[in-house]
Amino acid sequence: MNLAPPREPEMESALGQALERGELELFFQPKGDLHNGHIAGAEALLRWRRGDTLVMPGHFIPLAEHSGLVVPIGAWVIDTACARLRGWAERGYGETRLAVNVSARQFGAGDLETVVSEALARHAIQPGRLELELTESMLMDDPESAVTQLRRLKNLGIKLSLDDFGTGYSSFTYLSHFPIDTLKVDQSFVRHMVSNANMAGIVAAIIGLAHKMRLHVVAEGVETEAQLAYLRRLGCDEIQGYFFSHPLPEAAYLAMLDEDQTLPGLPAREGAERTLLLVDDEPGILSALRRMLRQEGYRILTANNAAEGLERLALEDIQVVISDQRMPGLSGTEFLTRVKDMHPDCLRIILSGQADMASVIEAINDGAVYKFLTKPWDDEKLRERIREAFRFQAAITATNTATKTVNP
Ligand code: C2E
Ligand code: MG
Ligand code: MG
Repeated sequence: MNLAPPREPEMESALGQALERGELELFFQPKGDLHNGHIAGAEALLRWRRGDTLVMPGHFIPLAEHSGLVVPIGAWVIDTACARLRGWAERGYGETRLAVNVSARQFGAGDLETVVSEALARHAIQPGRLELELTESMLMDDPESAVTQLRRLKNLGIKLSLDDFGTGYSSFTYLSHFPIDTLKVDQSFVRHMVSNANMAGIVAAIIGLAHKMRLHVVAEGVETEAQLAYLRRLGCDEIQGYFFSHPLPEAAYLAMLDEDQTLPGLPAREGAERTLLLVDDEPGILSALRRMLRQEGYRILTANNAAEGLERLALEDIQVVISDQRMPGLSGTEFLTRVKDMHPDCLRIILSGQADMASVIEAINDGAVYKFLTKPWDDEKLRERIREAFRFQAAITATNTATKTVNP
């Protein structure tokens, strides 16, 4: 969307005719509900079928925005979205929600409220099924009048969401005045959230902020199972992204609804199972540890380096992690510092052949590691240390849960 429009002189006039010629189409990308795994609704994404090519919005919306064509195009999108909702209701999907994107120019044009209310009436749509996706930047141009206009839109009974949240410049003062229902976490934060503690922190903070403000949170651009599982653990409500589905033509989207496709990789909560993650770059150490712990009844996961370890931590509920210190990539203490920030309830142990005292002391003083154990180890002692770690971890979790219950 930030790319400059291609300098194609005839493109603008062709785009002007695209509407009349019926060359514009809506694709639909399902959003999955992280609480129950079902399809929660979809976002309508515009495509221009120009001859044999399907032109993506990034290539013509900026041009349409510039020329003002985005106003009639946007009105067509809203009307078509309502027409689809009507058709889907007649197929028995009367509860499905559909979101459409609104451009700055369209929002500024002033007749958006009329366009929306006419489309709702024409197709007899319950307003709550239509959602408008707006961006912070378009509201922040003139926040006072944005608040007024949003209130009028909200009075129609439709839903409003803030798209690409976190990328524009927002003001928390105004955020609290905007009558919105949903924040959409931008895909740039989701992309690296499994491995980057700052990104994970931003996503966790947005989810926390949204919930405190009683807003719903949708994460965009979810491409992997690890991202999905981590978002679910952080309490995110819905996800959208290639991992679940690409944007689809209507027939394919309806087929997903017909099959009641659910989010892949949504595990049943593991319950009381105690899970231990072992991280070491030497396969021999991993298998020796596995053998030594065979009788202990843990579910044991292994990783060969910090990156793999972070991936497993995103995917699974893990109570205790034991890491080697010297590994290619992040060292053990660097890895556990990240784990502390990203998965604070997971108890962290170093098992190391050699110790660089400075990093050990720092890791301990930072609270990144709970125990620093040395190789070679004594089997019986190590088993006892690990049992102790699980007991300690269970106690902390119980305390945290109790605190949350008292002070939610
Ligand atoms: P957006 O509203 O933030 O839409 C999400 C974009 O991310 C879509 O790109 C979608 O195809 C893409 N996406 C979805 N899942 C993934 C994923 O897992 N990974 C990655 N890398 N991308 C993913 P698309 O369809 O090219 O649309 C781009 C932008 O164009 C939209 O961003 C929206 O701002 C704008 N747009 C689309 N349709 C309309 C429209 O009808 N009107 C207006 N004004 N703007 C539109
Ligand atoms: Mg959007
Ligand atoms: Mg977006």
